[in-house]
Amino acid sequence: MLATLTFLGSGTSMGIPTLGCNCAVCVSAISPDGNPRNRRTRPSVLISYNDRNVVIDTGPDFHAQAIRERVNRVDAVLYTHGHADHILGMDDLRPLTFHHKEPVPLYADSPTADTIERVFDYTFRDLNRYPTSARVALHRLPNSPGTSLDLFGARFVRIPVQHGNETITGYRFGRAAYLTDISGIPDESIPLLTDLDVLILDALRRQPHPTHSTLENSISLVERLKPSRAFFTHMSHDLDHDQTNAALPSHIRLAHDGLQLTFEIA
Ligand SMILES: [Zn+2]
Ligand SMILES: [Zn+2]
Ligand SMILES: [Zn+2]
Repeated sequence: MLATLTFLGSGTSMGIPTLGCNCAVCVSAISPDGNPRNRRTRPSVLISYNDRNVVIDTGPDFHAQAIRERVNRVDAVLYTHGHADHILGMDDLRPLTFHHKEPVPLYADSPTADTIERVFDYTFRDLNRYPTSARVALHRLPNSPGTSLDLFGARFVRIPVQHGNETITGYRFGRAAYLTDISGIPDESIPLLTDLDVLILDALRRQPHPTHSTLENSISLVERLKPSRAFFTHMSHDLDHDQTNAALPSHIRLAHDGLQLTFEIA
């Protein structure tokens, strides 16, 4: 079965253009003679297959992203971790959940589920739940590596990854994997990432960062894991789209908002 993956957003937590910044990439992102591929909203992907839509992370730009890509239904959401740039659009799911017979399932590891419950307390509390809250059901993914869930005929495997001092969640689905916000991949996760067609990796910038992968480090991860194709995401304004792409090997590309890929999911 083939799936289409759409990058809803490919930018870092601050988004590009970054507020208050006048660097060449931020200016290019929104000027008429600039490069719209430098305009990067907060990171998220949509995976469409079998007439279903699965979203990984709903950040603060989810509303605009869903309008841009004409996302009219969401059947499940998988979360990577509880940072603002990955969860704050959860409430925008509301109108997409009202017409579902059953609550829309959200999947997250335990620390992330705790954060989502705390931030959106009015949605999840039993007493005095806000009456028109999102109709969602939050499911906790077990912590062990290789935990998987079956959704609409495809299997999603949890891939533990390092994000600074935290262990967060990446996902493999069929022959693709999405690993955002990574500073490292623990040894036990490496066997879960063999035989990939598409590998999507965090590549924040060129300079080292305590909780994110650099361009150079992500290139070496691609060399180690040997997917057929790799795409970088969660990028800051340090990386100009065209200039950076021109210097990368042809099987590695920077993602951009709206980029679509087709791959085998089951
Ligand atoms: Zn992030
Ligand atoms: Zn900038
Ligand atoms: Zn993060």
